[in-house]
Amino acid sequence: DWLPFRDTHVHELARHDGWADLSEVCIRCGNAPSAYKCDECYGPTVYCRACVLADHARLPLHRIKHWNGTFWQPILLINLGLSVQLGHNGAACPSPVTFEAPLTVYHTNGAHFVKVSYCQCGGPAGGYLYPTQLLRATWFPASLTRPRTVFTFAVLKHFHHLTLQGKTTAYDFYNSLVHETDNTGIKPPPKRYDEFCMVMRWWRHLKMLKRAGRGHDPDGADATQPGSLAVECPACPHDGRNLPENWQAAPKGDA
Ligand SMILES: [Zn+2]
Ligand SMILES: [Zn+2]
Ligand SMILES: [Zn+2]
Repeated sequence: DWLPFRDTHVHELARHDGWADLSEVCIRCGNAPSAYKCDECYGPTVYCRACVLADHARLPLHRIKHWNGTFWQPILLINLGLSVQLGHNGAACPSPVTFEAPLTVYHTNGAHFVKVSYCQCGGPAGGYLYPTQLLRATWFPASLTRPRTVFTFAVLKHFHHLTLQGKTTAYDFYNSLVHETDNTGIKPPPKRYDEFCMVMRWWRHLKMLKRAGRGHDPDGADATQPGSLAVECPACPHDGRNLPENWQAAPKGDA
């Protein structure tokens, strides 16, 4: 059934590498020339520079490509001028602080460089801690004082599922993210394998505490009793739950 469609399907795949019949005019504003597309957003949509930036203000981990006249060339949103404000639910902060070096963000689609502004206006004096601001953006910091690398909650959750289901190692998963970022190997992202392993151990531990309800105990994680994080086996006999009443009086041997 499939063989007669080999050529058409190969052509359809190749079509995404060229301009094909894309609109010469930005599909969003309708008046500027289009030259940008996003590999993550839906559809064969092409934008002008201003519109691709506006559409990705809250999607800073999408991969953008620029038509250079010959082929689609990857371009970073940070180089188009995108910056992310933490705190204030993404709205402007009256007292932001921005570090010169961009934040390295590892996500399910690879590594990104993101220009991040922290909030310094609210909470305790000097603003609440930078790692806390990152955690509220669902980005897990790899260090606590002045984080330079984060892993999205999504990538940690994704690896957790993969390693439980497929026994995928952290090393293999991490390298798949490197390939996602740049499959040519010419521009590999900053190496953060050790950081990934450390954060992943921390993530599993925190999830275990959370699932056992430790976050709701006023005495905190330190009051965790031995064995209280274990998952009970539902098939094992538990008195008062899945055993018949008066089971102690049952005759020994087969029923
Ligand atoms: Zn436009
Ligand atoms: Zn997008
Ligand atoms: Zn602020």
